[in-house]
Amino acid sequence: LIPVIAIDGPTASGKGTVAALVAEKLGWHYLDSGSIYRVLALAAIRRGLDLANESGVAAAATGLDVAFSSGSVWLDGEDVSLDLRREETGNAASRIATLPAVRAALLERQRDFCVMPGLVADGRDMGSVVFPESFLKIFLTASAEARAERRYKQLIEKGLAANIDDLLRDLQERDARDASRLVAPLKACADAVLLDTTKLSIDEAVQFVMDFVVQ
Ligand code: C5P
Repeated sequence: LIPVIAIDGPTASGKGTVAALVAEKLGWHYLDSGSIYRVLALAAIRRGLDLANESGVAAAATGLDVAFSSGSVWLDGEDVSLDLRREETGNAASRIATLPAVRAALLERQRDFCVMPGLVADGRDMGSVVFPESFLKIFLTASAEARAERRYKQLIEKGLAANIDDLLRDLQERDARDASRLVAPLKACADAVLLDTTKLSIDEAVQFVMDFVVQ
């Protein structure tokens, strides 16, 4: 059995940073499932697809030419890492993520990341849908204000435009959409451990997860 740690939570909670560091410490693979939704959203926009066109976007998901290598994400052979981080891409991702056929079409692509010696996966439904057999499920949150501030810093570091008030409004909208959708809504699984990182450093959050892993 391949061990999986599922780390789910709202946008900009820091789950990606924590998940990537835990994967690095363990020497395991890392899946940033949000980036798959983002890359599909980008592909859909570029193809001029209506983001509410369920069968059209699901078909694009099936044929998606995406690769993860050298720390970058490639769409049709082009490095789209920077475009993926834009707020409008995140928003478009959360719109297509409401479509059941799209989620189904991306399922196998996410499960393909589950290879030896283990996987740390972050997203919204890692513990509930994609890897329900995960031996450890963490639901990682932080206050909306702390998350807006983290997202702001991330964007500024990448040289992208950012406004803290817009970010706060945007992430509250996104949370509401992620939590209210019919398929795989954002919520902690019954067997998940809650981790509120509002007042924690990255190292403390990583340590919290590592303490559950018996080596
Ligand atoms: O995590 P990130 O902000 O990159 O994800 C972008 C969007 O993709 C989220 O707002 C969410 O709607 C969607 N998503 C999802 N299920 C996942 C990962 C991301 O619905 N497992």
